[in-house]
Amino acid sequence: SSDKWEIHPDELTLSEELGSGQFGLVWKGSWNDLQVAVKTVREGFMSEEEFKEEAQVMMKLSHNKLVQLYGVVTLRSPIYLVFEFMENGCLTDFLRARKGSFSQEVLLGMCLDVSEGMAYLDSSNFIHRDLVSVNRVFIKLFVLRIPISFGSKFPVRWSSPEVIKFGKYSSKSDVWSFGVFMWEVYSEGRVPYDTRSNAEVVETLNAGLRLLRPRLCPQSVYELMQWSWKEKPEDRPTFALLLHELSCLEQEP
Ligand code: ADP
Repeated sequence: SSDKWEIHPDELTLSEELGSGQFGLVWKGSWNDLQVAVKTVREGFMSEEEFKEEAQVMMKLSHNKLVQLYGVVTLRSPIYLVFEFMENGCLTDFLRARKGSFSQEVLLGMCLDVSEGMAYLDSSNFIHRDLVSVNRVFIKLFVLRIPISFGSKFPVRWSSPEVIKFGKYSSKSDVWSFGVFMWEVYSEGRVPYDTRSNAEVVETLNAGLRLLRPRLCPQSVYELMQWSWKEKPEDRPTFALLLHELSCLEQEP
């Protein structure tokens, strides 16, 4: 039953507002001596049934490369989602602040960490949708962790052609987004296609053009990006394969 995920509101203390997410405000708080991030869900955002179903799937996911969902408060409104707190912030800020200081080993390690989390999600049949972009990846004690969430925004710059055209999400559309994520890592936090509008990004993709190789990116890694950006989803690698290829590159001298 869903009751075992239920956190009693009295066990939670909210301290400060962290920001606002797509469902509502996000708070810093504590629960049983743990620091937590509490996402509040605006009323009417989704039905309680729908929400509980999604939350139950998310609660079952657990991996050291994913931000953990500890539980939910559904007994009163607004609904809360209680997550592990990520004290070191997001990867974009980290990359931009330390631009120029990253070794090849560290950049590859970031891609490897996230591919591991994504391969796990894939093996759990979870389609991420709310894409892997650097500003959605958090750092905890130098381990990158992906927040899982549901209800998709529509970030064109991270979306595959079939998502843009038909809204067709799959693990292969996640692979495309992951390719863009790798590009952002090797660009040290640059915005993909930053000189183009969203409409121009779509035109670029339709013309068969892709993001160019970042200066810091070795050809071997750029080939994995290009593979992830194949027009047809079936021509793209799986996350298991990407994880394998990235680990092989890590082992090379
Ligand atoms: P949503 O996915 O609902 O749109 P976000 O994940 O973007 O919301 O959260 C909004 C803000 O709240 C983020 O920019 C971040 O500063 C903060 N935040 C979200 N989750 C966490 C977390 N687990 N730990 C620390 N801060 C978080």
